[in-house]
Amino acid sequence: MNDKVNVNPEPRPNNSFSARVKEEASSAPIKSVCCATAEMSALAYAAATLAYDEDNALSLRVVSRSASAVRRAKALGRALLGREPVPAGQAGASEAVWDGDDARRILSVCGLLGDQGWFAVSDVERPTVGAKPCCRAAFLRGSFLGGGSAADPAKEYHLELVASDERLAGIWVELLEGLRLTPRLVSRKNQRVVYLKEAEQIATLLTVIGAPTSRLAVEDARIFKGMRNQVNRATNCDSANLDKAVDASSRHIRAIEIVASTAGLGALPDSLRETAQARLNHPELPLAELGRTLIPAVGKSGMNHRLRKIERLAESLAAKKIVHDPGSPRI
Ligand SMILES: [Zn+2]
Repeated sequence: MNDKVNVNPEPRPNNSFSARVKEEASSAPIKSVCCATAEMSALAYAAATLAYDEDNALSLRVVSRSASAVRRAKALGRALLGREPVPAGQAGASEAVWDGDDARRILSVCGLLGDQGWFAVSDVERPTVGAKPCCRAAFLRGSFLGGGSAADPAKEYHLELVASDERLAGIWVELLEGLRLTPRLVSRKNQRVVYLKEAEQIATLLTVIGAPTSRLAVEDARIFKGMRNQVNRATNCDSANLDKAVDASSRHIRAIEIVASTAGLGALPDSLRETAQARLNHPELPLAELGRTLIPAVGKSGMNHRLRKIERLAESLAAKKIVHDPGSPRI
């Protein structure tokens, strides 16, 4: 008997942006058992299959074209079992396999083991919107690793999660709405597809699932598109200047985010805080125009001066953080 109970059939081919997001998200630290459980439930539910061999022995298998997803499944399995699988070493880079008691243990911890020894659709571990934020984030990360893809933001803003059943899609919608996002839901063949189309919403989700660098790629695309529109209006900016302006704006935003996540923007003097806020609100504006959004207006060189101060501050804050933060504990 070989019961394939829940396969995620034919995910859209991984483009390089999806692969990068998965690579990054799968490197997020596994901080606690609660999160490992939530993430593994989602990953297994979206991407794993159960099988029985001739002796009726159970095996749990995560097979994915994403090497990152497979690696992550193995790491989560180790976290949940507290050791390597037994027998060890039988699975290659394209699959993670657990047999017998290991499979049973992982499935039951994740709330995925039904009466028949099959995936229990009705019992899936379900982090509700009331559950801990760490676990909700982990569940979404596992979902993206197991059934998600994202388009290259330079071409299109599109991130989707594909489920083969209604129930999982419903959980995703609920969790995404809990993050104040507005997911859309469509049917594609026998699948339910939950997707996001706005750059800001995709950026938010990428941060939540532990892919802040990929999030910056979305921000950069947004800045670039905004600036290109500006350039179409003011034709005296050639493409080399456009590239420079995009680089500068992305650099400002990175610096502002570092300050926001360490000292906090509230720690800045008014002039710098207002400048930072204006930059975040208008990543696409050239400095001269950005300065005109402030009251009173500030000239181009004044804006340049203020943003450089913020960048220098971010550099020193980032340096301190590396010294004082020994990294997140792993289990
Ligand atoms: Zn947790």
